[in-house]
Amino acid sequence: MRALEYSRASSAEQAISIHARDEATAYLAGGTTLLDLVKIDIMQPDRVVDVHTLGLNQVEVLGDGRTRIGAMVTNTQLAHHPRIKSDYAVLSEALLSGATTQLRNKATTAGNVMQRVRCNYFRDGLSACNKREPGSGCAAIGGHNRSVHAVLGTSDQCIATHPSDMCVAMAAIGATVQVQGPNGKRDIDFQDFHLLPGSTPWKEHALQPDELITHITLDKPLVGAKSAYLKLRDRASYQFALASSAIILVLDGKIIRDARIAMGGVGTKPWRAVDAERALKGAAATPENFAKIAALALQGAVPYAHNAYKIPLGQQAIVRNLSTLTRGGVA
Ligand SMILES: Cc1cc2nc3c(=O)[nH]c(=O)nc-3n(C[C@H](O)[C@H](O)[C@H](O)COP(=O)(O)OP(=O)(O)OC[C@H]3O[C@@H](n4cnc5c(N)ncnc54)[C@H](O)[C@@H]3O)c2cc1C
Ligand code: SF4
Repeated sequence: MRALEYSRASSAEQAISIHARDEATAYLAGGTTLLDLVKIDIMQPDRVVDVHTLGLNQVEVLGDGRTRIGAMVTNTQLAHHPRIKSDYAVLSEALLSGATTQLRNKATTAGNVMQRVRCNYFRDGLSACNKREPGSGCAAIGGHNRSVHAVLGTSDQCIATHPSDMCVAMAAIGATVQVQGPNGKRDIDFQDFHLLPGSTPWKEHALQPDELITHITLDKPLVGAKSAYLKLRDRASYQFALASSAIILVLDGKIIRDARIAMGGVGTKPWRAVDAERALKGAAATPENFAKIAALALQGAVPYAHNAYKIPLGQQAIVRNLSTLTRGGVA
């Protein structure tokens, strides 16, 4: 058994300075990723700093119409917050599609953004895994890669999907991650926060050592928009996405005036389908157009031995979501 020191911080500055004392320190939020991985010896911090007591647990509407979410707001609080339900339905739905009620009651906004991959080879602690042990190889590429492995944004070093549902909705909405570190505060565009594996798959995000996420601020909602999250998975609950779509639409009769599309389950990071969005703007809401948009969203996808089905499944996640959102308005 390894000893683990526990500290509790009462301010962001204190949390950061405790973290900075020793590089083997981790911030502890809900613990639903961190403690799982500590128990199976995949993450090995010597110390955890509990960040629950920093007062970062509010959802606030800012003067410019954006919405600022404290890092410690739980997934349950966020999903049921009146502002999120009314103006960011896609985010509420994505959160409620994740994990279970008990897990959502503990899981926090920052912890969700920082959750680790679900790749079985990463978690078994034995197989070659460049993410766990840089330079050791990737057992998933020639191994079993059906459910939690990607077809977009992969490299010859790592093909694990980013597992979050919440982050897919945030990628569609647009957001800023506010962080604080020993050198002060800074903002990171949500699109730039999660990194592609490339040749450094162990680098998963843009945080510097010791930096703490304090808030995530959602972009202003699009005026008159409808939105929805559709998650396709092996069973209806307590399961990660095989493919999912977060879609936000502004409709003018049968014409789509504005659109945001992001996908989960298919990419190595929450995947914003920018080309598909562009093509959708000004298009009529027809099944033919939806099929074209979906094909565009998966353009360039690279299948592996067991996950080629994710390409048509990802397309279906988009077509079905668009069809439902435009029901009654399809030309
Ligand atoms: C059985 C199971 C099923 C699940 N199913 C789903 C699912 O279907 N969809 C889905 O999206 N997720 C799912 N999850 C993942 C779950 O959403 C995450 O475990 C959770 O969101 C992590 O949040 P947490 O607060 O518990 O983070 P923690 O476990 O406390 O922390 C996670 C990581 O974030 C770091 N961290 C925490 N707070 C901060 C901060 N403020 N600044 C910087 N770093 C920080 C920690 O050091 C750690 O590295 C599932 C998890 C389990 C165990
Ligand atoms: S896919 Fe990534 S996480 Fe999985 S074994 Fe390969 S390197 Fe490790």
